Amino acid sequence: MNTLEFNNPAPGHNPPPQTYAGFGLGAARMGGEDQSRKFAEGPSADHTTNQPGITMLKQIGFIINPAAAAGRCSAQWAELQNRFRQDGIQAEVRFTAGPGDAVRCAQALARECDVVVAVGGDGTLFEVASGLLLSGAPNPVLGVVPLGTGNDAARQCGINDITQACLALQGNRTRTVDAIRIRCQVGGTPVLRYALLFGAVGIAGESLNRTTPLVKRVFGQRLAYPVGALRAIWTYRAPRMRVTADGRTWEKRFLLVCVSNGEMAGGGMRLAPDACIDDGLLDVNVCEAIGRWATIALLWQVCRGRRMSHSKLRYFSARSVTVEADPPLAVAADGELIGYTPGQLEVVPQALRILIP
Ligand SMILES: [Mg+2]
Repeated sequence: MNTLEFNNPAPGHNPPPQTYAGFGLGAARMGGEDQSRKFAEGPSADHTTNQPGITMLKQIGFIINPAAAAGRCSAQWAELQNRFRQDGIQAEVRFTAGPGDAVRCAQALARECDVVVAVGGDGTLFEVASGLLLSGAPNPVLGVVPLGTGNDAARQCGINDITQACLALQGNRTRTVDAIRIRCQVGGTPVLRYALLFGAVGIAGESLNRTTPLVKRVFGQRLAYPVGALRAIWTYRAPRMRVTADGRTWEKRFLLVCVSNGEMAGGGMRLAPDACIDDGLLDVNVCEAIGRWATIALLWQVCRGRRMSHSKLRYFSARSVTVEADPPLAVAADGELIGYTPGQLEVVPQALRILIP
């Protein structure tokens, strides 16, 4: 492996792959409080034991989205690379240049690295997780450095900041989490992705469209997605959909169908208060068409961390959900728009191991 210096690319710039060398990942685990609150309790849910496959690790792949957090990720990565170099971390480095890049990078790195680390927000993590699971690599391990607008997946795995992310990368503790396998399509071509937080059809897609880079820059981590949702509520008209969950079917005008693996999304919006990321079940919100002010009230509840409550809102567990609509509707996953209906969302229990502090 060549030893090269890092560069800090401007967002959108995609320099050639780089490496830097010198590290042993099997270092003794440093202390770190387990912050995660939403893992199933009991011995069967504890996947944090020393694993021979992890302690013998030699190679890490970093996938950096320089455009994450409206470009702030790029500057923070510049500081981090020095820290990793001092720690002697040996790594392959890839920078993404656009949507889908991290999926392709992760598929390639999964074949040559023991751990592939997503550096960015929930969107970057989603693409890297998808790439790892699409690669067919046996027992892939995912690392997280949360530098995005929304870092909900990292938080739900107990990684709240960069310090905890570094502890996780230096150690050998893992959690095994479920994923949501999402099948949809773009122009008749099938799309297959794996989400860690949620998949959704309805106003979620319009909210993402309205959470522009400018909104992210102006309103920051906490407010960007609620502001995007408010902008969407103002113009969105609930379309007719056919929704099937574990054999039960509804056909109505729906504002939102949201299938959650994690409790939170969108920078701390508590979409699924009972969701557990490793219980083999998905938490489903299905909300029929309701008025603009009622929708704003739901948004207020979800932003305040309260349970969404409305007579037209159903909240239940399921293993598989399908959504059909004519004309097709956008399908969102972990903060990214990935395709159009018909969409199938199903749980993949114990899909992926994530390094935790
Ligand atoms: Mg679950």
